[in-house]
Amino acid sequence: GKKMGSQSISSIFNPFMKEQTKDILHTEFNLRKGLDMNEFSLYYQPQVNCVSGEVEGFEALIRWRHPEKGIIPPIEFIQHAESTGLILPIGEWVIEQAFQQLESWSIQGITTCTLSINISPRHFLHEKLLPFLKKCLRTYQVAPQQFIIEITENVAMGDYLAAQKRITDLHELGFKVSIDDFGTGFSAFIYLQHFAIDEVKIDRQFILDIESNRKSLGIVKTIVDLASLLNIKVVVEGVETEAQLQLLQAIGCKTIQGYYYARPLPTGEIEQWLHARSV
Ligand code: C2E
Ligand code: MG
Ligand code: MG
Ligand code: MG
Repeated sequence: GKKMGSQSISSIFNPFMKEQTKDILHTEFNLRKGLDMNEFSLYYQPQVNCVSGEVEGFEALIRWRHPEKGIIPPIEFIQHAESTGLILPIGEWVIEQAFQQLESWSIQGITTCTLSINISPRHFLHEKLLPFLKKCLRTYQVAPQQFIIEITENVAMGDYLAAQKRITDLHELGFKVSIDDFGTGFSAFIYLQHFAIDEVKIDRQFILDIESNRKSLGIVKTIVDLASLLNIKVVVEGVETEAQLQLLQAIGCKTIQGYYYARPLPTGEIEQWLHARSV
């Protein structure tokens, strides 16, 4: 909070708005190559019910295993992918990978968990999204109800009606829709009023200082109460400490995703993590 002066408003609302200094063409070439060379992988972060201890689901988070640079986090390339259009093949890769993972978990007896995937605004509104999802539903033995599609508030900034229609279409196919980074955009309440969403994810920004900033706790409590009134599930992101967890539990939060329980893990480690919890 005290460093606000040195931080521009746009960087608070959206860190991606910062000037990109990298050569975009070079990145586009590398991204395409990374995709062709199978260098992307999904990590999975558990979502735990802090009351019952039950694992409710996972969020799939993309990583780029670059042969020279090592593991590159999404903040370094998703925005480039979005602006160059490569987000479409990358997003389709993510969707298909997620279907495969859910199918494989269900074969291993992990059947009650949901899997959340992040879909960028451009891909979400793209005409190929629904046909691709339908194709995956035909190919994999997976129930669409196990999938949660995460979008951010700015999805509706381009075409509000199109976004609304897309959410309806996804529901008709059986998918659930979640608003990610809830409260950090400019249209939070409009979403609750006009969009039939299933879940909101409270951004880590509101959790970071929850012990010292009464405003943050108040904002989180208000979202939790409102969501409960509207029958919308709440997931709290970025919980790292026991103290944060206790405050959140006291105001009625249930589903927690954060380092406190687990970091995002590659697929083999998730099964180990689940096994270690159940013994
Ligand atoms: P997000 O969807 O809001 O994902 C949550 C981010 O918070 C993840 O960062 C996760 O590792 C991090 N996180 C979770 N718990 C904690 C915690 O307790 N402490 C801290 N410090 N961080 C925590 P990650 O994986 O680096 O992803 C960043 C963003 O990149 C995501 O934010 C999402 O917007 C985007 N992204 C990730 N994977 C994909 C993808 O497959 N497709 C698209 N379009 N975007 C993706
Ligand atoms: Mg997300
Ligand atoms: Mg988020
Ligand atoms: Mg975020």
